[in-house]
Formats: sequence, structure tokens, C-alpha cells
Amino acid sequence: MSGRKLVTMSSVLVWFHNDLRLGDNPALVKAIESGKPVIPLFTWDETDVDLHTGGAAMWWLHQSLNRFSERIEELGNKLILRKGDPKEIIDEIIDKHNVSTIYLNRRFEPQIIERDEKILNNIDYVMTNGNLLFEPENIRTLQDKQYTVFTPFWKNCNATQDEPHEPYATPTKIPAPEKLPDSLDLDDLGLMPEINWYTEMEKEWTPGEEEAIKMLRTFLKTEGSKYGRQRNIPGIRGTSRLSPYLRFGEISPQTIWHESKPYSDKGVDHFVREVGWREFSYHLMVNFPFLADKPLRSDFEKFPWNNNEEHFERWCKGMTGYPIVDAGMRELWATGWMHNRVRMIVASFLVKHLLIDWKKGERWFFDTLVDGDFCSNNAGWQWTAGCGADAAPYYRIFNPILQGKKFDTGGRYVRKWVPEVADIPNANLHAPWELSEGELQSYGVTLGKTYPEPIVNHEFARKRALETFDTIAPKK
Ligand code: FAD
Repeated sequence: MSGRKLVTMSSVLVWFHNDLRLGDNPALVKAIESGKPVIPLFTWDETDVDLHTGGAAMWWLHQSLNRFSERIEELGNKLILRKGDPKEIIDEIIDKHNVSTIYLNRRFEPQIIERDEKILNNIDYVMTNGNLLFEPENIRTLQDKQYTVFTPFWKNCNATQDEPHEPYATPTKIPAPEKLPDSLDLDDLGLMPEINWYTEMEKEWTPGEEEAIKMLRTFLKTEGSKYGRQRNIPGIRGTSRLSPYLRFGEISPQTIWHESKPYSDKGVDHFVREVGWREFSYHLMVNFPFLADKPLRSDFEKFPWNNNEEHFERWCKGMTGYPIVDAGMRELWATGWMHNRVRMIVASFLVKHLLIDWKKGERWFFDTLVDGDFCSNNAGWQWTAGCGADAAPYYRIFNPILQGKKFDTGGRYVRKWVPEVADIPNANLHAPWELSEGELQSYGVTLGKTYPEPIVNHEFARKRALETFDTIAPKK
């Protein structure tokens, strides 16, 4: 006797990862189509936290799992929540519950691919594509190479690949086996932080699939056609804010693609193209897995970073004395999200003005963003630092004063997040130090007291960055 419990009919298991949705979920649909009872499983591996999810994203994940569990129960089943080594958990469930096949949507982070391969070895499994529009390996140059420049990559996707599949319908029932495996309560996963720093995030976001689709539709109806004009203005809601929903798979890129089609115009097409940047980030990570730890341009490995801890802390806290940078960092801390334009400004500031290693910024973003995504975050940082694919050239140094004046002309964004300088008129808002002490006082500002002096002089920092970047630039 093996000690195994005999169960008459075999079941199938759906192993959910970053695909916490019922709508357009190919792994779930295929599992139901097998005609066997389905065990829906989510595993949380604490030792893998670094690979999975940062602190703010863990808050999101908790809310998302909460809603997803309710939805699964509405369809007559139960999301099994487990904590620990996924291999042990899956082996145990297969053994005790007579599981014939595992269904899962493909994941792309190099360490997770490696881990999943070990887990799925010797198990019958079906892997579907539910997280990307196109399979990243299928996009090849004429020389049969991977792409490192976005525009031809995206052209190739559109020209050579089948159109992304139409979204699969949301199931109306998920048949459950007679006996389901034991499950933890959601709280037992320990995703929620012990200290409550998430009040603003609670006000800002409603995680879950229903909200994601609602947000997409509202965006397409109201802002979509204006996207091209509005997407760079952080003071307005001109972008979709779907990134955390995409990060946890509460909405699929295929749904975005097909819902966008009827609205196709310059603005909406531009929006879909931005979803293409997400595809590009994954294409890069799959084809160059070393990017997880290293820059694409190897000469950057010997860059003489100036890792000043005090400067790094001031950047993290939004106390650099550059209002647009501080506004971004404070928005990030409070809401777990930052506008794309400002992400580029603050990242450039860290790397080029402060000469701090982009890996430190990448780590901070990953921990504080609700949309912290292994591939997109890495690509965003390498792009800004100038060491990645299709990267901003190293001599392109964002001027935080001009960027502020150009993209936050009326000062709405800075005034919201840096109230200490809110009374300064627009003309000086992005460079308060240009005012005299008396003028500043009349606006209630004392530099060094109520608001920091600039952490570094812009002209000095620019020159220093160019000289330092020159030391690793390829010699002509
Ligand atoms: P929209 O403008 O509405 O775009 C729609 C979707 O397209 C986004 O939700 C996102 O999934 C995708 N997208 C848009 N721009 C990009 C881009 N440049 N790269 C990859 N995907 C993109 N995005 C993340 O999702 N997670 C990250 O961890 C992340 N880190 C970043 C770090 C840096 C330094 C930079 C410069 C960018 C980073 N981005 C990241 C990309 C981008 O800033 C966000 O995707 C975008 O701001 C999300 O807002 P939205 O949903 O309103 O985007």
C-alpha cells in the first residue's frame, strides 16, 4: 500500500501566478475544457519574494487575491492558497488529489523560468500564453537575431505575427473536485505590511479584474484619443493607469488590444504601442537573461558610481530640492505609482546628476511601485541610464528645471506633492533657489529649512556626468 488516498476521478490543477483573472485566462479555460474537476492554486514562496514582488506590490497582491478568491467562489470553486516551496506543495497536491495535468500561463522572469522547469519536470502540463501579445522568441530580425531597438521590433510584431487571440469568455462555472486540498486563509500568506503605510494607496486604487476593465473602457471612451497629447503631463490623468493590473494579470494585453480596436485613432494606436514597450521589455529579458543582474552594454559594468548614501536617501524621500524630482518620489511613496515622464526624470536624476548606480534605483522602484515589474522596471532603468536596449544616449541628461517647466507648466503636479513650495509662482516653481531670500520668504519658503537647498548644482552635475560617462564611452 502506498498510503495514497484513492480518488475516483482525476483532477487538473491551475497554478495561478501573475494572471489573477477569470476573463481571457487561457490556462483556466483549457483546464475547464479538459472536462475534469479543477483545483485552482496560488502559491506564495517567501524565499522568492525578491523575484516576485516588492513591498507595495505585496499590498496590491493581497487585495487582488482577496477579490479573485471571491470571484472563484461565485463560480462554485475555491482558490487554494499555500505558502512555501511550490515544488513541495505541488508534489503533495498531485499525490493526494490525483492530479493528471497542471495548467499555467507562461512566465518570463529568468529565475522563475528556471524554478518552474524544475517543478514541472516529469509532470504533464499545459503552458499557455496569457501574459503577452506575442511569444517573445518569435520576433526575429532578418538575420534571425533578437531585437534591441523598439521601433523595428514593434513593426515586426505587427507585420509577421498572427493577431493576438480574441479574449476568451469568462467561465460561468469552475467544476470543483469532491475534496479540495487544504488552504490557508489569505492573511496567513503574510502579504500585508505590519505597519500601515498604505492609507493613500487604499484611497487611490481598487485592485481586481472588474475595476481593470472598467478603467480601460473609461479611458478609451474619454482620454484615449487625446493620449498622444496628454501622456506626458503628470498633472492630469492622461494615461490609463493600468500598469498594476497588467502586472498582476487582472487584465490581459489581448483584452486591451481588442477593446482598443473600435476606438482606433492616432491617440489609441499610440496607447497600444506603449503596451508594445511592455512586450519589448519581456523580449529583452527572455533573449538576454543576464539583464536581470547586468547591463546590456558591458562597458557599464566598470562605471565609477559615486554611491553617496545620504544623496540616495534624499532622493528616495523626495528631498533633493528639485521640485519635479521630489514630487515624483513623493507620489511614488504615497500611491505606489509614478507618471512615466516623471519616472524618466527621477531615474535620470539619480543616475546622471547624482551618479548613483541604476541598480539601486531599480531596487527602490521595485519595492515601492505597485506595478513593480521585473522586466519593465529593468528595461526602464537600463534605458534611462544609457546602458540598455534602444537606450537614451549617455549624453542626454534631462534638465529637471526645463522638464518641470515643459511638462508641469501650470505647476499642478508639483503643487500637489510638494506643498511647501505651492505659493511660488509658476515662473520660479521649478527652480525656487533662483529667487532672492526675501522673495522666497514672501512665499513662505526658507531654503534649507522649509524646503531643501538643491542637492547638487545642475550645471556642475551635468558637466560631471558627461566627463564621467566619457571614461567608459567607446573610443572613436
Ligand atoms: P499607459 O501610458 O497607459 O500605457 C499602457 C501600458 O503600457 C502600461 O500600463 C504598461 O503596461 C505599458 N507601458 C507603457 N509604457 C511602458 C514602458 N516604457 N515600458 C514598459 N511598459 C510600458 N512599467 C511597469 O509596468 N512596471 C515597472 O516596474 C516599470 N518601471 C519603470 C521604471 C522606469 C525607470 C521607467 C522610465 C519606466 C518604467 N515603467 C514600468 C514603464 C512606465 O513608466 C509605466 O508602465 C507607465 O507609467 C504605467 O502607467 P500607465 O499604466 O498609465 O501607462
